[in-house]
Amino acid sequence: MEDKLFDDPAKPLYALRVASELSKTSIYSLRQYVDAGLILPYKTSSNRRLYSQVDIKRIHCIRKYLDDYGLNIAGIKAIFAQVPCWLLKPCSEADCRQCDAYTSATNPCWQVTVKGPTCKNEDCRVCPVYRLPEQCSNPKSIYKGLQNVKLNVTLEP
Ligand code: SF4
Ligand code: SF4
Repeated sequence: MEDKLFDDPAKPLYALRVASELSKTSIYSLRQYVDAGLILPYKTSSNRRLYSQVDIKRIHCIRKYLDDYGLNIAGIKAIFAQVPCWLLKPCSEADCRQCDAYTSATNPCWQVTVKGPTCKNEDCRVCPVYRLPEQCSNPKSIYKGLQNVKLNVTLEP
């Protein structure tokens, strides 16, 4: 039964205090990351935030960027903003052109105001793009996740 709980790493399981302990990160810092949009905890109907294993891994990743690479929160957001989400989703050129994520250099796709039709009603928490840095050991690993994606679109800015 307990094993089933961990079948889906994106399943919201942990309250803020537990997430803080598991990630060895202060509650204050976790709130900062959430406010900045670096992590997307699940919100219950009573407005309680729950964190998944994916979120915990992302927090470890964020800590690495902050502590080992000397980046700040804006810098980390800019790294996440460079991920070409349209290569990982079935996103057409027309969709891209309707989406702020295609041009934003500062906000990750899950944070942009105007999303294209491909992502309008998607749950970003389970999306492979949100989950890419889940296993990161350095910023390049985000792009290594794209290694096997065939570039079948050629879009001009
Ligand atoms: S609709 Fe926007 S966010 Fe979604 S894959 Fe396309 S460019 Fe990215
Ligand atoms: S579902 Fe969310 S995280 Fe995934 S590509 Fe679309 S906006 Fe980005």
